[in-house]
Amino acid sequence: MKGHPGGHPGGHPGGHPGTIKEAFKDIKDAPDAHAKSHSYMMNKANQLRLVFWETTAGCNLECAHCRRLDVANTLMKDDLTFEESCKMIDGLLDVGSPILVLSGGEPLYRPDIYDIAKYAKGKGLTVALATNGTLINAEVAQKIVDSGIQRVSISLDGIGETHDKLRKLVGSYDMAIRGMKELQKIGMPVQINCTIAKHNIHQVKEIYQNAIDLGAVALHIFMLVPVGCGVSIAEDQMLDPQVYEETLSWFYEISKEKKIETKATCAPHYFRIMRQKAKEEGIQITPKTHGMAAMTKGCLAGSAICFISHKGQVFPCGYLPVEAGNIHKQSFKEVWDYSEVFANLRNPDALKGKCGICEYKKVCEGCRARAFYEKNGDYMEEEPYCIYEPVKITDAAKG
Ligand code: SF4
Ligand code: SF4
Repeated sequence: MKGHPGGHPGGHPGGHPGTIKEAFKDIKDAPDAHAKSHSYMMNKANQLRLVFWETTAGCNLECAHCRRLDVANTLMKDDLTFEESCKMIDGLLDVGSPILVLSGGEPLYRPDIYDIAKYAKGKGLTVALATNGTLINAEVAQKIVDSGIQRVSISLDGIGETHDKLRKLVGSYDMAIRGMKELQKIGMPVQINCTIAKHNIHQVKEIYQNAIDLGAVALHIFMLVPVGCGVSIAEDQMLDPQVYEETLSWFYEISKEKKIETKATCAPHYFRIMRQKAKEEGIQITPKTHGMAAMTKGCLAGSAICFISHKGQVFPCGYLPVEAGNIHKQSFKEVWDYSEVFANLRNPDALKGKCGICEYKKVCEGCRARAFYEKNGDYMEEEPYCIYEPVKITDAAKG
């Protein structure tokens, strides 16, 4: 995300006050950059760094892989009101100074979204907007900029028809590109988010080149997680673990080109692959060699990030439907500091199966949502889409 202007005075005790980008700037040229970036990555204080908030469950599209649990094409009556939204934002400040991502549904459905953004910005938060891009014209783009939002991510799940098919709306790709251009014209940095699954894996290289050609500041790829509407397409659409591995290995290679900021999100074993490859290449992972990827790790659910639903439920992330608390019933701080679900997720030693004995577990942790889906709701079970055999298994096999 773009730099954090000023920062919130009451940062979380013990943590770095500000965004990863600010920390990156501070750390990258330090003589002990390796140690400092490792410590930032391990985040022992469980500093809250990113909050995804479902501002409304309403949306103008009905994408096949949407993670929404409630689906509607209008604003919903249990969406947080403006006052409740401001109270929720105040609650975040009691815990730290996270980046706040206004997501949905479609956040631009909310007429008060700009006032909400201004309120959060006024409180010192870095605010980003995650949208499908189709509702952005010149006027909307200007309102987004004026509200103080610092980065917009637009979801593009393929090129042209591939995207339209998933979005179930002919022309939605062109509409999203138009929206992106309106924003770029007035200086807003735009990031492209792309969920990778079987339907678009054949386009993955084009998607990368397209992001560069479109002048996006970043390309974040997400690996499909079966939740919400995504459950019904999971059997057909989940990548084979071997293809998953190859895709992440390719993503590591292109990240070295540094043509655009790249990030593999919700693909925790990317961070294992990154370490395996760096070892083969004989290089140490530092912010200079690997950028911000040196300062983050695999699954951050409940330890550095969380998701707040349109009804005020707090979840570890938008894909893991295990409720940690509810801001209508308790303070956000109480949830963040004392939830049992978060305590479990912050303890890699409680991981089960091969993740539990894996030497990469502290930098990877596997996707807890995919474990939940595949292992009857046991979110601490092993990640089902990782082909890696931990050394303890291979050693045991050797006898
Ligand atoms: S459980 Fe972790 S890796 Fe999986 S979707 Fe959530 S944040 Fe991403
Ligand atoms: S076994 Fe689990 S912890 Fe190890 S790399 Fe695979 S997903 Fe990550």
